[in-house]
Amino acid sequence: MQNATPAALACAAAADRLLQLVAITAARGDRRITHTSREPAAYEEGTAMPLVWGRKWTTRKLGFVADFCEICRRPQPFALERRSLVGHVGRLPIGATHVVRHQGRCTRCSTEMATEHLRYAQVARHKAASTHELLAATLPDHEQVLQQRLAVERVVRDDVDALSPAARRDLLARPFVALSPMVDQRFSTLPVDAWVGAAMLAFLALPALARAACRWVSPDSAQLGLLCGLALGLALVAWTAVGARRRWIRRFVAPRLTGSLGPLCVSSAEIEVVLGELRLQRHKLGSVLRVSDLQRRRA
Ligand SMILES: [Zn+2]
Repeated sequence: MQNATPAALACAAAADRLLQLVAITAARGDRRITHTSREPAAYEEGTAMPLVWGRKWTTRKLGFVADFCEICRRPQPFALERRSLVGHVGRLPIGATHVVRHQGRCTRCSTEMATEHLRYAQVARHKAASTHELLAATLPDHEQVLQQRLAVERVVRDDVDALSPAARRDLLARPFVALSPMVDQRFSTLPVDAWVGAAMLAFLALPALARAACRWVSPDSAQLGLLCGLALGLALVAWTAVGARRRWIRRFVAPRLTGSLGPLCVSSAEIEVVLGELRLQRHKLGSVLRVSDLQRRRA
């Protein structure tokens, strides 16, 4: 590096910094996959050296239960998970484990919903052959517990216009409220999807490619090619990262909402009202979802 120009040194420093960001982003992405809390501030770390000590969420799969899914609008099998908070030093768990909450993940639509372990008579080790069989085994009093909800769904199926205004408002809001915690969690971490990953790989390759291309054109412009490659790589990573959350909204949230709201024959004005109420209650979903996202899915 003794013969390197100041511009080349600056490029190398910028590359080092970006690689650090890539590593941190990847670590956060891993954390999001393995610790799927719906609480925005669900992960606590030591303030001095965030990755060295602190408390972290761990998730343990307990088995399967059946319950009503607000997105599928019918009873479905759920993968039951227990989420615990545990202290750690250097990622190694220490101290007591505190069970904080349980959550179920619908095996059909992958929506997470908070629940209580005590709600179920037992937790099945394997998913039963049918939802009805799993329902009878894990929620034997489902006829009483879900009676009211299933009665409303029968009205939706038979004559959606027969719903009272209050019941319709409640049914309209339910899918949004069910998905809102997942949106809060997703937006509390740096977004990493396949496009961001591809952009990071491109960032690693672009400087060398651009440098080689410029050198082939003119040996004196190799450094310029390196700079252009770095700038292009940085711009690509930033551009894909900015769009990652919107892509997730369109890919995960919008189809589930569209499918769930379909039987209600909902209008755009009604969706606007629900989104406005979500914004008033400081749900991120109210701000990040656009009516056009749902219209695009319905078209
Ligand atoms: Zn579902």
